[in-house]
Amino acid sequence: MTTPLLTVNQLSKTFQRRGHPVCAVNNVSFSLNAGETWALVGESGSGKSTTGRLVLGLTPATGGDVQFEGRSLNGLNAAGWRSVRRDMQMIFQDPLSSLDPKRRVGYSLEEPLMIHGIDSRKKRVADILEQVGLRPQDASRYPHEFSGGQRQRIGIARALILKPKLIICDEPVSALDVSIQSQILNLLMALQREYGLAYLFISHDLNVVRHIADRVGVMHRGQLVEQGETERIFTQPGHDYTRYLLNAILPAHPASGAPVRAVANG
Ligand code: ADP
Ligand code: MG
Repeated sequence: MTTPLLTVNQLSKTFQRRGHPVCAVNNVSFSLNAGETWALVGESGSGKSTTGRLVLGLTPATGGDVQFEGRSLNGLNAAGWRSVRRDMQMIFQDPLSSLDPKRRVGYSLEEPLMIHGIDSRKKRVADILEQVGLRPQDASRYPHEFSGGQRQRIGIARALILKPKLIICDEPVSALDVSIQSQILNLLMALQREYGLAYLFISHDLNVVRHIADRVGVMHRGQLVEQGETERIFTQPGHDYTRYLLNAILPAHPASGAPVRAVANG
């Protein structure tokens, strides 16, 4: 057995809200291999984003631990986190949350390189812009000059520029029109093939997940109620909540029993 890229072990997070504990993530365990797409699905509020933030150490866990390449991230110092963050990046639903509106795109792309002391930055920025389907000269423009889909390409470029092994994608296409969604998903899949990237892909949209994921975990009220190969989850769901989710957004086709394309919201 090879060591998984990421191992999440009984991870938990309880927030205090107005003096009451809210258990956002409850004993979640899964592992993800290099080069694969592992999707976390569930309704709004089920704990998906919190799980992503716990993995990246953006919020401290109240229990459990995360291992990256077999090494526990518990108690890592600042230098340790800096080196992990080089390998583990994040893409958000709103790419503007990782882009400074007052800075040219080129600056936002160079910034991670500066933090990590990497040279030949202009060349790397030009290359990465082309890899995400933009032009080198776009480096001198500002985020507001781009469309939503183009801005997500910039968000992907920023996550990709350090050549990470894992990108946590939190609802990366949920704010985009369906036609633009598939362009961005295709870009993510092409980049995965080229770089051997792994994705922890967070989404409430089962259609998107079926398209992109190798394996799926279903989250409900902070717990991972089921996980498995994507096709198995969709064709033979083992948990009532998974069946509920599938019924809610994928009405069975009357003739074949196969799900038909439906646009989910929520
Ligand atoms: P999802 O991404 O699946 O929509 P979240 O992880 O954002 O779910 O939220 C899970 C639960 O944790 C929700 O009940 C949410 O209100 C709560 N929560 C998330 N972040 C915080 C926070 N910083 N403080 C208090 N409660 C939070
Ligand atoms: Mg979320």
